[in-house]
Amino acid sequence: MLTDSFGRTIDYLRVSVTTRCNLNCVYCGKPDCEKKEAELTLPQIETLVRAFARCGIRKVRITGGEPLVRADIAAITRAIAQTPGIETVALTTNGVLLAPLAKKLADAGLQSVNISLDSTDGSTYRHLTGADVLQRVLDGIAAAQDAGLSPIKINAVLMKGVNADGAGALIDLARRGPVDVRFIELMPFSDAGETDGLRVTSDELLRQFPFLTPLPEDANETAQYYTAPDFCGRVGFISPVSHKFCDRCNRVRLLANGSVRLCLAANETFDLLAYLQDEDALCAQIKRLILQKPAAHAFGRIKTEHGLSRTGG
Ligand code: SAM
Repeated sequence: MLTDSFGRTIDYLRVSVTTRCNLNCVYCGKPDCEKKEAELTLPQIETLVRAFARCGIRKVRITGGEPLVRADIAAITRAIAQTPGIETVALTTNGVLLAPLAKKLADAGLQSVNISLDSTDGSTYRHLTGADVLQRVLDGIAAAQDAGLSPIKINAVLMKGVNADGAGALIDLARRGPVDVRFIELMPFSDAGETDGLRVTSDELLRQFPFLTPLPEDANETAQYYTAPDFCGRVGFISPVSHKFCDRCNRVRLLANGSVRLCLAANETFDLLAYLQDEDALCAQIKRLILQKPAAHAFGRIKTEHGLSRTGG
């Protein structure tokens, strides 16, 4: 078991397999989004995930950048799923490339998927992402359902004056189908620009949709979930800025360049590539690093020097 110095069990690893992305979201992407930076190879991912699993990691989420731009994404998924000790393999994707891949990924061992979708309106979606591909994302959601991936969570970041007026239409997805729609508060990463005036808090949304009633809190979830009469899915709120949940944090992040970020908001990263030739030394270094995981995120107190595309959302 992997325990940090605050007694939290760390059993969840997010693996960013690339910093490349096929979208350029206004609060995340950068003009150099297409540029290829250092990327872990499949054998390197295998070694790292095996070591993390030996230390106590049980769940892996594959992310990026956009993970589905990697040609070997099915092989990566299969390798992670077959790692002794790994019980759950999940994916976070913008969904653009998901439709033709969903079945292949499910066959490779993928269990669940989070799909980022900030608007169901075509022109707002295009404005936010720089691409006219909303229908491909909707097809990706349908393909994920057909492939049996479960749960399917739709993640949306709302911004005042940009897409916040589409919250009701997003919530409607959870009414109509077996998907959880989750609103994630805009976080103040440097790549996101000025965020404080744009952020829509969970409390503001709950006032706007009073028909949502809370479900019992789940200690293993970062989201607080709500339901409503005749809803197939749930509506969730992830509020890292207005309601910190760091005391329940169980995760660390492996970046696409082979370094580790211990907290989403921390600027420091720690290289692991130097330990790849000796798995015992790699495990020892992972255990040492976990003890440096901070008690809580420092959003609002420090200026982050990165964005989520480089860290893995
Ligand atoms: N490309 C994949 C995707 O779109 O899901 C994975 C990476 S993306 C960085 C993961 C998530 O981070 C997306 O849902 C995106 O909306 C979210 N994100 C990026 N910047 C953010 C910010 N400043 N605040 C909150 N969420 C952010």
